[in-house]
Amino acid sequence: MRLSAPAAATAGLVLALAAACFARAADEALPVPDAPASATETTVSDTPPRRRARNVDLDAPVMERPGEAYTKQFRRDVETRSDQAQDEAMRSIDDVDVAHLPQSPIAPFVMLEAEVAPGTSARLAWQPAESFEGIEVATPVLVVNGAAEGPVLCLTAAVHGDELNGIEMVRRVLYDVDPQQLHGTLVGVPIVNLIGFKRASRYLSDRRDLNRHFPGNPRGSSASRIAHSFFNQVISHCTILVDLHTGSFYRSNLPQIRGDLRRPEVVRVAEAFTSTAIIHSPGAAGSLRRAAVERGIPAVTLEAGEPMRLQVDEVEHGVRGIFALIDQLGMYRKLRVWGNPVAVHYQSRWVRSETGGILFGKAELGQQVAEGDLLGSVTDPITNMRADIVSPYDGRVIGKAVDQVVLPGFAAFHIGIETSAEDLYEPRALVPAKDEEEDEERPDVDPESRDSLEDS
Ligand SMILES: [Zn+2]
Repeated sequence: MRLSAPAAATAGLVLALAAACFARAADEALPVPDAPASATETTVSDTPPRRRARNVDLDAPVMERPGEAYTKQFRRDVETRSDQAQDEAMRSIDDVDVAHLPQSPIAPFVMLEAEVAPGTSARLAWQPAESFEGIEVATPVLVVNGAAEGPVLCLTAAVHGDELNGIEMVRRVLYDVDPQQLHGTLVGVPIVNLIGFKRASRYLSDRRDLNRHFPGNPRGSSASRIAHSFFNQVISHCTILVDLHTGSFYRSNLPQIRGDLRRPEVVRVAEAFTSTAIIHSPGAAGSLRRAAVERGIPAVTLEAGEPMRLQVDEVEHGVRGIFALIDQLGMYRKLRVWGNPVAVHYQSRWVRSETGGILFGKAELGQQVAEGDLLGSVTDPITNMRADIVSPYDGRVIGKAVDQVVLPGFAAFHIGIETSAEDLYEPRALVPAKDEEEDEERPDVDPESRDSLEDS
């Protein structure tokens, strides 16, 4: 009855289209008592369809990365609900609707509307619900889901789009783990801030620092919305987080772990990196690390090297440290490469230049220095007056500015002062700062400033 009126009134292409549409409409509209079809349909309209991700060899190069077209194709195919479309879907894309698959005895890892079966690896894609300039293409999220149960360790890189070393660390770790031998799940996001990365910028396109907006707000600024989407869709699935960074703006960092060492669960993660300096730092407000810890996810930052560069020594140090953590978590066994698993804890102080001019560093990253030792010098190019920068502390150079033109007050050297883990819990035991302004954590630095000291 419903079909006859439009069928009589139309012809040609319109007729063909209408026939196709009505064939489906008639299917869906049929009053079927206790019908499984209508139950499935309700599920689909209430929650997004979930797919099972294809098991991929992450180490093998791909010509296409998961993107919007991929997701749209999947949704459209699932929504048609016909057998023919389902068959098409299974042929044309690699993921299949889980409603059509038998479930394995161990629960799959579920993230981003996809199931990753135990003992498999997958490439997923994260995308904020809203379309933001520059991220029409989804951000790849790599998952290695172990055959046995265990923690969910997440590695995030390039939250600051110009920090490249972490991108390579994620690649090397994720592509080097056999899911059949893994306990738990590894999640790697090589480039969180794809907008910044494409522009070789630390920031989002509105010059906001994404790493000051976590856990985000769905009704806040664009940075806050992006942060909220990422935090809820990806980070909330993690049980441990390692956020990978480098120094910022012409500064380089000795490979180091930063964490809020007042929290024992964070200390355990930090110390698992073994031969890596550990710096106590609660983390800037709005940073991914701090937001995760406040949400009950132990999190640390791994800092290594400087932005805008790929530094193989720093990358290798980071990868070894991450594998040491994975090993200590009981997730994966690899040959140990570090003989001395002693972690050294530091509190840290910045040493600033008192004069402006051209900075030449003398002390190297990792170097032990004593109070009064020469760290570098600043020469005024007009007057040729030279001023030395000397260390006010006994300690180790854990960060330094590269040679450049500086203004008075520029933070040039970051000194780690060795401290017992116990003393870090007791603020009175700490060495008092000799520069009252140093190391303050600004909620959002001036993007033009090179003085973003609290990188993470
Ligand atoms: Zn950073």
